[in-house]
Amino acid sequence: MDPEADNTVHILVVEDNPINQKLARYMLTKAGYRVTIAKDGEEGLQSYTANSSRFDLIFMDIQMPRMNGLEATRRIRETEHTGGTFQLDLHIPIIAMTAQSMKGDREKCLEAGMDDYIAKPIKKELVLEAVKKWLPGKA
Ligand code: MN
Repeated sequence: MDPEADNTVHILVVEDNPINQKLARYMLTKAGYRVTIAKDGEEGLQSYTANSSRFDLIFMDIQMPRMNGLEATRRIRETEHTGGTFQLDLHIPIIAMTAQSMKGDREKCLEAGMDDYIAKPIKKELVLEAVKKWLPGKA
């Protein structure tokens, strides 16, 4: 059976911190979701563009080496504009995970094309709440 053919919600976590990677994987897997981890923005962008339809939602760290979360999000959003036409069904929810909720951070995330924002340290309740909020009827 094609593992991509099932209806399990598949979440891409783009995060460079190994502890946060483990934490996110544990929480999301335990809640019944499939999880793929990318260790920085560049790897996240590659994972996404290699087969964009296999993911349902992305959690995106902001500060990462090689490519940060804002840039990775902008690039992902660019791929959603095909032939100059924005297609809503191609819009994957991207939720920022940021270390400090500094003033202006939320605006920066939304400007880059993110849909939502949760503050670190990662809390299970907030993570699962965000998944359900952005995948209504699916998660
Ligand atoms: Mn980071």
